[in-house]
Amino acid sequence: MTTPLAIDGGTPLHDGTWPAWPPPATDAQRDLLNQVLDSGRWGANVGDLATTFAARFAERHGCVTGVGTVNGTIGLTAALAAMGVGPGDEVVVPAYTFVASATAVAMLGAVPVIADVDPVHGHLSAATLEPALGERTRAVMVVHLAGSPCDMDEITALTAPLGLPVLEDAAQAHGATYRGRPVGSLGAAASFSFQSSKAMTAGEGGLLTTTDAALGEVLWSVCNVGRSRTGAWYGHERIGWNLRMTEFQAAILLPWLDRLDDEIATRTSFVDALAAGLATRSAPARIAPHPEGTTRDTLHLAMVDIAPAEQVLGERGIDKQFVLDALAAEGIAADAGYPGLDQIPALAEVSRCLPTPGAAHFSAGTIWLRQPQLMADPALADVVAEALTRILTDPRSRRTQ
Ligand SMILES: *Cc1c(COP(=O)(O)O)cnc(C)c1O
Repeated sequence: MTTPLAIDGGTPLHDGTWPAWPPPATDAQRDLLNQVLDSGRWGANVGDLATTFAARFAERHGCVTGVGTVNGTIGLTAALAAMGVGPGDEVVVPAYTFVASATAVAMLGAVPVIADVDPVHGHLSAATLEPALGERTRAVMVVHLAGSPCDMDEITALTAPLGLPVLEDAAQAHGATYRGRPVGSLGAAASFSFQSSKAMTAGEGGLLTTTDAALGEVLWSVCNVGRSRTGAWYGHERIGWNLRMTEFQAAILLPWLDRLDDEIATRTSFVDALAAGLATRSAPARIAPHPEGTTRDTLHLAMVDIAPAEQVLGERGIDKQFVLDALAAEGIAADAGYPGLDQIPALAEVSRCLPTPGAAHFSAGTIWLRQPQLMADPALADVVAEALTRILTDPRSRRTQ
């Protein structure tokens, strides 16, 4: 006799308590916050903490310049503006990402072109990018999804001959590496986010990085009302905005650089244990594969493929809502993940949408685990593996045709 699922009144496999995200504030963060508070230098234009943090974060990601911003969305917009993107220009964005990747384009009056993604790993690929390129393409945005880098080599092989800049949306990938090189240094520029859910957070905030010193000065200028770093206070060389991070945000983020590696290691242990637990049980689920070239996945999220046997495009046969409800009943909060961007009517209206069978396929069979689970004791990964196995072998998890 099998034990009933919690959704049917069985005892939940877990009591539902998981580590909090963000983790409790450290003494280093409290000390720096107090220093900023007492100094009265609260803005990045009068203090030096945000500048120090931006420089250290950039260095850590193999870049010469880092520019703090108010958030990741506006960072993407500022980077596109610095690359000369304007009204009517097209910027290619992958279909499986957070809506902000595309609304950042629309903010400039430019047109997001929603390209399909690879059905297996969910990232933009050369095959899905190529049909999206056209006469009006001005830039390409890649997204380092869930902490695993996009396959930059195959993207760049297409964009470089056309002279198209690649902007990395690295909102989810602090510390990730691709063929041993840090994200943030792989394209023309990159935008990171420190919003509440991210792997480093100050509640809100963002940061731009680049390996191109000249572009770095333009990024700084766009985020500092068009000033130049060496110019006059009321000298405005271009159109820019006040998009600065505050010193308070930098006080929370600077000490985080010293513990990011440990946190990535914790998440990696959890996900390795989950993968092993699923394999041992021959569960009909696996951790979604990486694109080629991932050398360090930072696991902002764990994307779990809950229908790996069904690889025919469009055929997943999974009742995702049942799976999520049954997991929640077992004390495990999982996330449905993104709908394709082309499924958001308000966005589709201002975009050019390509067919997206790959994104539909990936989205239909993928759920996410977030920081609270991933930062937990890896022993609990076995509980998640057990819950997933039981739920996915219940006939109700399959859509009956
Ligand atoms: C979080 C996120 C953003 C936006 O960052 P904010 O700081 O919330 O504005 C953009 N793209 C992706 C992929 C994200 O995950």
